[in-house]
Amino acid sequence: MTINQEGWLVEARHCPSPNFDHRPQETRVSLLVVHNISLPPGQFGNEYIEAFFTNQLDPKQHPFFDVIKDMKVSAHCLIKRTGEIVQFVSFNDRAWHAGQSSFAGVERCNDYSIGIELEGTDYVAYTAEQYQSLSDLSCQIMLTYPQINLNRITGHQFIAPLRKTDPGLSFDWKHYFAQIST
Ligand SMILES: [Zn+2]
Repeated sequence: MTINQEGWLVEARHCPSPNFDHRPQETRVSLLVVHNISLPPGQFGNEYIEAFFTNQLDPKQHPFFDVIKDMKVSAHCLIKRTGEIVQFVSFNDRAWHAGQSSFAGVERCNDYSIGIELEGTDYVAYTAEQYQSLSDLSCQIMLTYPQINLNRITGHQFIAPLRKTDPGLSFDWKHYFAQIST
């Protein structure tokens, strides 16, 4: 895999989101945050997440969409059940994925992190293709942003423990870390 100078993964499908801004000056990209998302909750294999992250969700398609349609959020990447990687925001910019959060005593994780969403839920096992894509992408991110290392990869549930539960019990951290440690 290749991340270009502008912070885009060459191999990803690019789906630029307006929901980003610049990282604060002098901020080093130094944390990787794993998430999950599915829209509607528990349903996979559609284009609703891409629509959500680009503010194009149609509230008529599902009652839940009416609740979330005005949320301005994003992540750097989404890894679909097939393993396909979709990128919404340059890794050099600040995506809006973590919200109020804290890692190792430092708040506002969006400022200094990369957010990767897995298409999934807290209780449904992720696919082998997703682990493979996530591992390949994580290794490339660690090469490009060397302040990210195995001790600085976490889940949304750990940086916002009172609010968030993703990527959940279904995410096999041991398997993931074994894949990226080799
Ligand atoms: Zn999350």
